Amino acid sequence: MDIEAAIARARGEGRNALDEETGKRLLAGCGIAVPKSVVVSGADKTEAAVAGLRFPVVAKVMSAEILHKSDAGGVKVNLATPAAVRDAISAMAIAPGIKGRKVDGYLVEEMAPAGQEVVAGMFRDPQFGPLIMVGLGGIFVEVLADVAFRICPITERDAAEMLDDLRGVKLLDGARGRAPVSRKAIIDTLLNLGGKDGLLMSLPHAVAEVDVNPLIVSRDGAVAVDARFVLSPADSEAPALPVPETGDAAKRFERLFAPRTIAVVGASATSVAMANTFIGRMKRFGYDGAIYPIHPTAATVDDLPAYPSVAETPEPVDYCYIAVGAARVPEILENAKGRVAFAQVISSGFGEISHGVGLEQELLEAARRGGCRVLGPNCLGLYSPRGKVTFPETAPTEVGPVGVISQSGGLGTDIVTRGDRRGIRFSGLVTIGNSADLGANDMLEFYLADPQTKVVGMYVEGVRDGRRFFDVLRRNNAQKPVVVLKGGRTQKGQAAAASHTGALAGDDRAWVALARQTGCVLADTLDEFLDMLLAFQTLTARKGRATKQIALFGNGGGTSVLATDFFYRQGLDIDPFDAATQGALNALKPPPGTSIANPVDAPVGTLQQEEGRIAEKILDAIYSHAKPDAVVMHLNLAAFVGRGTIDPLDNLITAAVRVQEKFPGQAHFLLVLRSSGSPDVEAGKQRYRDRAMSVDIPVFDELGNAAVALAAMSRYEGFGAA
Ligand code: ADP
Ligand code: MG
Repeated sequence: MDIEAAIARARGEGRNALDEETGKRLLAGCGIAVPKSVVVSGADKTEAAVAGLRFPVVAKVMSAEILHKSDAGGVKVNLATPAAVRDAISAMAIAPGIKGRKVDGYLVEEMAPAGQEVVAGMFRDPQFGPLIMVGLGGIFVEVLADVAFRICPITERDAAEMLDDLRGVKLLDGARGRAPVSRKAIIDTLLNLGGKDGLLMSLPHAVAEVDVNPLIVSRDGAVAVDARFVLSPADSEAPALPVPETGDAAKRFERLFAPRTIAVVGASATSVAMANTFIGRMKRFGYDGAIYPIHPTAATVDDLPAYPSVAETPEPVDYCYIAVGAARVPEILENAKGRVAFAQVISSGFGEISHGVGLEQELLEAARRGGCRVLGPNCLGLYSPRGKVTFPETAPTEVGPVGVISQSGGLGTDIVTRGDRRGIRFSGLVTIGNSADLGANDMLEFYLADPQTKVVGMYVEGVRDGRRFFDVLRRNNAQKPVVVLKGGRTQKGQAAAASHTGALAGDDRAWVALARQTGCVLADTLDEFLDMLLAFQTLTARKGRATKQIALFGNGGGTSVLATDFFYRQGLDIDPFDAATQGALNALKPPPGTSIANPVDAPVGTLQQEEGRIAEKILDAIYSHAKPDAVVMHLNLAAFVGRGTIDPLDNLITAAVRVQEKFPGQAHFLLVLRSSGSPDVEAGKQRYRDRAMSVDIPVFDELGNAAVALAAMSRYEGFGAA
């Protein structure tokens, strides 16, 4: 059927939705079962018209003015004879909810076999496009709110997982003596709607929402007995998006992450502007390539020869840092004359404020003419230890495995400096600001292709081309872990995001779906984000074996109890050890007060026995017998301070390394160093943290942090596992 014509007809009649009959024909066209039906104009014409139907049947009013037919008295089910249909329609015509409304006719259709009422639907996310929904409850869907979303197109696995996401999924399997219904029939319907060749992917943008409510699912099949295709208010079109570059992404951005020539626009010859600070910082950070200050008149800036424009530098420019008034930026980019590979525009006053939108467009066009790619505007800069480029003043110089993309500059600084304290080492951190040209997708492609990067972290408030983001992540298929800290996941957060960088923050449902479908991991706070990155940096993920069983070992009984609860809520189990493990631990004759069941709770005294080496025996017994997926050792540092001359903590770390080496790859090992906050304990903590990190043992502040990081690891490991 010609959907464009149906939409035009509906619009012509002033409707905001397709009529039910047309909707059902669209569903039938993609392989979804709908009841056999006829449309009649009124009671008097019914009897002959319905003769071909299998009774009993249903009669429904058709009217653009009636949203919920049954609420208006416009649905009569179980009509056994043509006469009953006639009477039902006569009664409907004078029902209070219908009388006086414009009625287009009556739909008479066969009854679907009894079953479970399910709702399926589509909703267009501003960033990700069509999202498919499935839920339980038919008319009670709003009350139960038991629904699951996925980004289209979905795979068969996605469809099956959507059902598993429903709290009431057991109803499908026949709870309380009810007959089970066909999950396969629901999955098939979802695929007919939202699969690769499904209806939703081919629907014109003018269709804003689809509601199949209910889909009646029985043991043998599913029938769509109601269909609503809601049109968008105006003739809206999908927004035009730039066509991404293709080819080796690692090569494409090489000159950005390891620039040999840097131009700096906005440095003053007489005072200290932001760009001067940048030059000083680059020198201190050890940048050894060429720096060309750009200045209209000065011969030198900060003792470096200056040039009047970026087109006049001795060599072409790999990276051009621009921090001047917004209005001057387009001209600078235009004058690049193909000699600048990447420009990073620090200046603000563009798309993030309403009257700067036009200027941002100008910037983009000027950059195109000038032949350079742009990062920003409205961002802080780039940190790339491999290229010895930095924007935070204090940043580690070593190159590490964590590649970060940040839509916010301030948060980017926090990620580098706080991450540094935790031992995180970066392959890069790029702030993308308003993403007028290059954005999160381009940088994500780079990091996924970059051999130096082992894990990607992103702070985003919105991505412009959500489809491409979804595709890139899906293609990655969780080969490299990607941790996403999404700003603006709630309604209020979204309002803040809109005023912050002008991004259209996406709907939270889409992001949850994204994580489920691509295996990326969502973090809620900066702390979680950093803890997860730390875990992925240091631990070796075991794909297909999702971390589940945890052994907890340390000092502090109450702490262990609280941790057991919290780990459990994160989906991780701290189950008591089996008899063999407990036997082995008992054989070590730990002193009274030591609990060996898991959590293993050892007072400081025990941990200090034999210069702390008892701990090694305990760990050895746990690894040999219990074989947990992860071991979390936690130490309350204050309890160790001022006790004897030996260094039990150092011994404990050594012990952990030895046991890890003896049982390679068997369990993730995490250390939690709990501080009282007093300066001496804090100082000791940093020392031990560095010591542990030097042997690749990640250190967390509290057990909760370790739990969140391990849960992220577990989700990543379990992604796509059968
Ligand atoms: P509305 O949602 O506009 O009130 P529906 O077409 O969904 O109207 O019908 C209301 C209810 O009637 C459905 O939720 C379903 O329980 C029942 N129903 C409607 N059509 C059929 C049918 N063909 N077979 C079985 N039950 C039906
Ligand atoms: Mg309905």
